Amino acid sequence: MLQKTHSAAGLVAAELVIVYHGGSFWSWEAAGALLLGCLAGPLADVDKQGSTMAKLLFPVSALLRLLNVRHRTMTHSIVFILTLMVLSLPLSPLYHAVFIAAYLSHPLIDLFNEQGVHLFWPLKARVRLLPKFLAVDTGSTSETVFRWMLLAVGIWLPVSAIGFPRLF
Ligand SMILES: [Zn+2]
Repeated sequence: MLQKTHSAAGLVAAELVIVYHGGSFWSWEAAGALLLGCLAGPLADVDKQGSTMAKLLFPVSALLRLLNVRHRTMTHSIVFILTLMVLSLPLSPLYHAVFIAAYLSHPLIDLFNEQGVHLFWPLKARVRLLPKFLAVDTGSTSETVFRWMLLAVGIWLPVSAIGFPRLF
């Protein structure tokens, strides 16, 4: 999936956390949470040379290359996410939940990809949710449709949380 699709998924994940926490969308904390979601969504692709995250976090991507960590392996695995859960504990409860949910959205939607994900890294098995002919290829029309669906949910969630009667 493309970075912008992962950002859209990260945004939806952040919004779901805010709704679940019963929080308001009209606060600086919520704005920070949404931004965090957009950034944490594409974060796992720091393992992909040339990606925006690899460029932004150059030392991390250089280290991953040095360790010969391949794309959609370690950074997309359950073991790594559990490690991140512990490492990000110093964050506030809302930001911690948003960070993990948005990061988790990444391998989750990559599961719809044709290549699948090494979800159980260091085991070698690749996991893919859809048969090849239904899989969403990176940059394909189906990915664009998928991204628009995510954005629609991303608009609908805060609007429904705020409530139409209060908007008009
Ligand atoms: Zn990925």
